[in-house]
Amino acid sequence: MDETQLPEGAWPGEYTYCPMCTTRLAWEEIGDAHRMRCPSCRFIHWRNPAVGAAVVVFDDEGRVLMIRRGPGMTQEGKWAIPAGFVHYGEEIREAAGRELEEETGLIADVGDVVWVASNFHDPAKLTVGIWFAGSVTGGTLQAGDDADEAAFFDLDDLPPLAFSTDFAYFQSLGADPAPPDPASA
Ligand SMILES: [Zn+2]
Repeated sequence: MDETQLPEGAWPGEYTYCPMCTTRLAWEEIGDAHRMRCPSCRFIHWRNPAVGAAVVVFDDEGRVLMIRRGPGMTQEGKWAIPAGFVHYGEEIREAAGRELEEETGLIADVGDVVWVASNFHDPAKLTVGIWFAGSVTGGTLQAGDDADEAAFFDLDDLPPLAFSTDFAYFQSLGADPAPPDPASA
């Protein structure tokens, strides 16, 4: 097989060279999938999806906390439930709380899972998201990190959404927001 050619049914490749020994990777059929493997050290690029953690915070009036995605972010200018990637070695609720604090300034107890979804919107960067209920215990509302604004919204007056996964979650709550642009979300 031409090692530079993407086999049928394979996701777009991400590595060209082995991250362990720098040999050029080659496509190989392993199990029921095409995967990139190092012909030298036999490293297999399993390429699992990244895990994201989100925190859903409602205020006393039933409004939900959202952040606007800042310059340079995918879906810049669109709104999302505060979320981010789990670091390697980090416990998932700690990750969720860290992302909430970075993006909104608020500190919360991170509780039950309220939504889980696979996200296929970018074939080169697949993710699995887990949304937790958050109960604010401190901090001051102040946008930061990837967010340039943070605010609470009524469920019947949600801002333009960045992600189809947040959209599906809001639908599950009985809200009827405008769907995100299907070309980019
Ligand atoms: Zn190698």
